[in-house]
Amino acid sequence: MKLEIDQQRLLSELETLATFSDAELPAVTRIVFTPTDLKARAWLIARCEEAGLAVRQDAIGNIFARWNGTDPEAPAVGTGSHIDAIPNAGKYDGVVGVLGGLEAIRALQRSGFRPKNSIELLVFATEEPTRFSIGCLGSRLLSGTLSAEAAGRLKDRDGESVDEVRRKAGLNGNLQDVKLSKGYYKGFVELHIEQGPLLERAQISLGIVTSIAAPACLRISIEGAGGHAGGVLMPDRKDALCAAAELILAIENAARSSGATDTVATVGVCDVFPGAVNSIPSRVKLTVDVRDTDLARRNGAMKAIESAVEMISQKRGVAIQQELINADAPADCAPEVRKALADSCREHGFPFLQMVSRAYHDSLFISRITPTGMLFIPCRNGYSHRPDEYAAPEDIRRGALVLAESLAKLCSSSQ
Ligand SMILES: [Zn+2]
Repeated sequence: MKLEIDQQRLLSELETLATFSDAELPAVTRIVFTPTDLKARAWLIARCEEAGLAVRQDAIGNIFARWNGTDPEAPAVGTGSHIDAIPNAGKYDGVVGVLGGLEAIRALQRSGFRPKNSIELLVFATEEPTRFSIGCLGSRLLSGTLSAEAAGRLKDRDGESVDEVRRKAGLNGNLQDVKLSKGYYKGFVELHIEQGPLLERAQISLGIVTSIAAPACLRISIEGAGGHAGGVLMPDRKDALCAAAELILAIENAARSSGATDTVATVGVCDVFPGAVNSIPSRVKLTVDVRDTDLARRNGAMKAIESAVEMISQKRGVAIQQELINADAPADCAPEVRKALADSCREHGFPFLQMVSRAYHDSLFISRITPTGMLFIPCRNGYSHRPDEYAAPEDIRRGALVLAESLAKLCSSSQ
């Protein structure tokens, strides 16, 4: 089998898809189910049909483009990513895995390869949390991680529910039917830009993901007592911001003392009320994001945060409330998919790095229902989610080539 990636065509498709944007190029803004996104989806479906793939969409807008294998009853081998983009993002996040996946299928077709299992490109709907405040909505539903009822009720900023928005986009099916059976896929591979600097630093073009870290997010609200910055003496104070400061450092320490560099914790929002120079802060709202590749270790860090909350609340006489927004479990990539990727790299003489995915992806959820792996290519300076996000043409070609080879291996290896 002689596999060749049509690099010119792949790059020109990347450029074309980037023009479906609500921001001026090179910035890309493509929020799910906006008119711009719907045009991009229609364009993509036309490219898949051109390649002879059978296309269907489910009720949440996941797009499936299938190259039928010689045994249509056998579970499919899947690949894919997303094309929605946060405001003012770049051209490559998600898109490399979608168009790279399409080109991988076309390369296999051109080589004369005839798969036994069908090979399917899956374009996940609403991966970015921009519209509905939750990431990976499509893959959460596919994997049954989120119920159809809970998904249908989610609202966007204008108060429109997922159900209303998707019906306006012409998606009339039943959300209950989105969930895939465990045997639907034989395996799944997602090609993605790294969104970090490690590959570039190591000057290695390919990364095989060993595990995908996952976040737990908390909203914390601290109620103290306000007052005049001159009038209330120190022994009488219940300063909510001072309590927050102590808590933020305790959160940092919970991650630092976990015993592993994979544990990270971030307080990204700190709203202070009333926020006046001569007024003691009476209320502070924080958000906390704790990530790890190991669930038990992450739970340990969460426990440490909880104890700090109790201790600080008692010591300072402030009321602290916590609300868990979400807590997704991390995932390990499947050995058989990692092996297919590693063998493909070796056959082409491409060096690769084994690495953790620090960002989370649809693969985190797909891994709940099928053996899943991820292949990373470098992005310049590790930049992502910004207009100057960039991946080199040669890296994109290599990624698509190794992806194609791996899909073939996952098809033909014994069931
Ligand atoms: Zn992405």
